[in-house]
Amino acid sequence: MLIWLWKRLSDGGTEATVSGRALRRFSGREIEGLLRAGVLIEQRKADSWPVCAHCDCGLDARPIRVAGDRLLACCPRDTAADATLEPDDLRRFGIDADRLISAMAASSGLQAATFALAEGLWLLGRLPTGMCIVLCRDTHALRAPAAKLAVRAAAGTAPVTIVATDLDPATDLQLRTAGLAACPLADCVRADEFGTERLAFDRLLPVGLAPPRLVLSRSRRSVVLDGRRLDLTPQMFALIRLFAEQAGQRDPILRKEAIEAQTGRPANEIVRDLRKALTGCGLPRASVDALIETVRGYGYRLGLSPAAWRGN
Ligand SMILES: [Zn+2]
Repeated sequence: MLIWLWKRLSDGGTEATVSGRALRRFSGREIEGLLRAGVLIEQRKADSWPVCAHCDCGLDARPIRVAGDRLLACCPRDTAADATLEPDDLRRFGIDADRLISAMAASSGLQAATFALAEGLWLLGRLPTGMCIVLCRDTHALRAPAAKLAVRAAAGTAPVTIVATDLDPATDLQLRTAGLAACPLADCVRADEFGTERLAFDRLLPVGLAPPRLVLSRSRRSVVLDGRRLDLTPQMFALIRLFAEQAGQRDPILRKEAIEAQTGRPANEIVRDLRKALTGCGLPRASVDALIETVRGYGYRLGLSPAAWRGN
């Protein structure tokens, strides 16, 4: 929801408002939370509604009437074009840019140091590598030399990446010339399994500095995948460890025969058990299939690069 609001703010400028109808896609709890945090500011309810598309009624807006227990946005030309509204559709919200950006920084796990650098330009925070992330609402803001200076001053000697909603090639080149890296917002947004978009900066990390996605601890017999701890039986732990170790070999495929020799069970059965155990830990089916890939005819392999796991 934060990213969605940010895009609205980028399109509509500081005066952007959103209607209750547009917010229908989000849960009431999310909306309440953002109202309480001051990210959304409730405004006066709408008393009219946009005219229907391609209407020749000549009105600027259509009146809203109460008909029984229904709310109708009435078209003077065609009753079939009347729109039935929910009471919440008439709510109107402004967006507090500074608070929205603080909330985005907090939800993306950055070391928050959020503040406005210039009109339409915010320091979002720092990655664990020290890189400063600057969020830019409108690339026009970056044309001013003062804006580039403000970015430099805020970052000090740290590397900077400017995340811009729309990044055109000319601005990108101009920023590179000024020693500032830029990245389109779309490259820093990932949707989770529920379709919720969040900021993710792993692509900005220099190779080798990215935190491992999979961490195996022999002493604690624990498996942590993308920050989520998975509770596995000793047998399943040994198997996933076998996969991880094979991933670092010249041939990353764990052969069926090797699995059978190590575990004394048919490979397809024990791999099915492992996948079931991973799903049972709350991993979505698609992630499990991507993590333990089937290599038809040969065996299985870990769907992670050797650099993406760490064990002790
Ligand atoms: Zn109409």
